[in-house]
Amino acid sequence: MTAPELPRFTFHPDPIRSGSVATSDAECRCCGERRGYVYTGPVYSAEDDLDDALCPWCIADGSANREFDATFVDSAALGNDVPESTVAEITERTPGYNAWQAEQWPSCCNDATEFVGPVGIAEIRKDYRPFETSVLNHIIYDMGISGGAALRKLESLHRDTGATAFLFQCPRCGGHKVYVDEP
Ligand SMILES: [Zn+2]
Ligand SMILES: [Zn+2]
Repeated sequence: MTAPELPRFTFHPDPIRSGSVATSDAECRCCGERRGYVYTGPVYSAEDDLDDALCPWCIADGSANREFDATFVDSAALGNDVPESTVAEITERTPGYNAWQAEQWPSCCNDATEFVGPVGIAEIRKDYRPFETSVLNHIIYDMGISGGAALRKLESLHRDTGATAFLFQCPRCGGHKVYVDEP
């Protein structure tokens, strides 16, 4: 079976790699179809039981948002400089991601960045080398940890058990945005 190509999410280009969409034979609660994938990130809705229950297509076309009045990213995660159309696209029609605490969605060049994924030091060294300096700078300058403690924090990053680094990239200037969150 060839899996169908996922819809394109401007601000979350690879939700399979980031872990927010997983292969699944579950039936989508919105369209009732088994599309081979399910969204595994947070769902903010008065409706229960939407966890691991929506297909990415129903998120992309806005039907899950309309059907359940559901959002997938907390609007408080976005900066004040982000245009309203982007806020709507990210909160209503983009897969979110599981943070440890309240999620953040950094902006750059007066708009939102793309979510790359949650990573530990193993993933940074293997697949995201260019982000390593940005992560260390975030630990030093934003978290206020210096010297050996900053390096120990960097080395302790872990994708699944935390502290975890969440990587974002600006599609306009290519700049890296990072934040580190802990259980
Ligand atoms: Zn669906
Ligand atoms: Zn930028």
